[in-house]
Amino acid sequence: MTAVECGNDIVLLDAGGKFPEESQRGIDLIIPDITFILDRRRNFRGILITHGHEDHIGGLPYILPQLEQKGEKIPIYAPALAIGFIQRKLEEARMDDKVELHTVKGGDRVKLGQIEAEYIHVTHSIPDACAVALHTPVGTIVDTGDFKFDPTPVMGKPTDERRFKRLGDDGVLALFSDTVRVEVDGSTPSEAVVLETMDEEIRTAKGQVLIATFASNVSRIHMAMLAARKYGRKVAVAGRSMEQNSRVAEELGYLDNEDGLLVSLEELNRMPKEKRVIVVTGSQGEASAALSRIAAGEHPKIRVSRGDKIIVSATPIPGNEDTVSHTINNLFKQGTDVVYSGRNRGVHVSGHAGRDELQKMIRLLRPKYTVPIHGEFRHMALYRDLCVETNIPRENVMLPEIGGVIEFTKDGAGQKGRVPSGNILVDRLGDRGNPQTVLRTRENLTDDGFVVVTLILDRSTGELVAGPYLVGKGLSKDLNNGALKEAENELRRMLSRQKDGSPLYGFIVQRAKETVGRALYRHSRTRPLILPIVTEL
Ligand SMILES: [Zn+2]
Ligand SMILES: [Zn+2]
Repeated sequence: MTAVECGNDIVLLDAGGKFPEESQRGIDLIIPDITFILDRRRNFRGILITHGHEDHIGGLPYILPQLEQKGEKIPIYAPALAIGFIQRKLEEARMDDKVELHTVKGGDRVKLGQIEAEYIHVTHSIPDACAVALHTPVGTIVDTGDFKFDPTPVMGKPTDERRFKRLGDDGVLALFSDTVRVEVDGSTPSEAVVLETMDEEIRTAKGQVLIATFASNVSRIHMAMLAARKYGRKVAVAGRSMEQNSRVAEELGYLDNEDGLLVSLEELNRMPKEKRVIVVTGSQGEASAALSRIAAGEHPKIRVSRGDKIIVSATPIPGNEDTVSHTINNLFKQGTDVVYSGRNRGVHVSGHAGRDELQKMIRLLRPKYTVPIHGEFRHMALYRDLCVETNIPRENVMLPEIGGVIEFTKDGAGQKGRVPSGNILVDRLGDRGNPQTVLRTRENLTDDGFVVVTLILDRSTGELVAGPYLVGKGLSKDLNNGALKEAENELRRMLSRQKDGSPLYGFIVQRAKETVGRALYRHSRTRPLILPIVTEL
């Protein structure tokens, strides 16, 4: 999230959620702290969303209630597909009446106080992605959003290079650029490469084909449909977020289902295996997503076996390598053939610009200043080198930090202190619009105390070797030993219901958290932080 303040007007650019790292136990999602905006609520003019990915819209359901003011709807501007995803999210959180959703597209302009926002079409791994140019009295700031220059996108048009060039001709004060692929030389391959690969893999498949990808990756669903249509198969999607997103995409006309190609999973299951393509969630090995449950033989509706082909159309996000590799191993154990990026590079291409494309954007815009965003520190540092190579003076490249303020005036620019900021930790019990969601900060993290859940599993059979043991600290007086014992037993019963076979670490961790969290809540109406420690030996 970036906040842009000009005089008495503040707009927010994107409102993402971040998935926690392995070490951030007990937490489900991380969202930005918006104290800075709340302190200036009167000046807040709206939220500008660049595209529909979780790291750009995932924070909305938790941020909007904080921003809410009586009788005033919060304006959100976004491209059509993102609006569809946001609407679905907010309906689920019963917050859709708190916002005023405005659909915008490349070329549209929105006036928010002194700031005029202009949307510019870019290519990315989701259709309908945009960069935003903010025209202000001090100059124009361009935020690229996530982008690449894909000359042959499978959905939509190529990036609007002409508009960027024109902006450059008129003068750009600062470029805020995506940097995540700055380490990679050259340009990122086109989505057309994935279409070719998918076509070939589906053509040569004998049994069922499963394609795992991000739930928001509408263009991969579109590709699966193109190939399926060609080879006489039908397509179903599995995984709650995938079902919802594909429905949104179909309603908005991004997926063409006039011939009834897209069917329900039940309907697809009544067809012969060689007629099936199933697009599933879980390409990151997420514990509760369809793919890992299929891999563990635990999915209620999807079974795989010898002769089936699984295409993992994604690469693991750093930190997820182990869980992804575990899932792929389990799929091979089921006798299936798994095609993943380590075997066939064409199953996935990134949605982000490589080094040449980042440089091309700088050359089109010729900004006075650049600010690398959307990357790790090393990405931002490497982007600075790239800028210097592209004739931007080193001192005109500003490496931002979370909460850091960069001030642009008519005379220059500079870093100017920090504002309250940081991570807000979202702790949920289960997914489905659960009211037992708490927002935690470092300060109130353990207000209700915490409970460490320890258990040891046999790595090969998944059997419980020791535990579960619950140890609590700072708990409500309702949570006495008896209550902890009861939660312990409940968890033991839940674990004994697990099927034999290699346990899915993340799945067990999540189940342990939910089972214990619910049991303790029932007893005390409090939500201690649950820290599961699962060891596989
Ligand atoms: Zn994105
Ligand atoms: Zn992103």
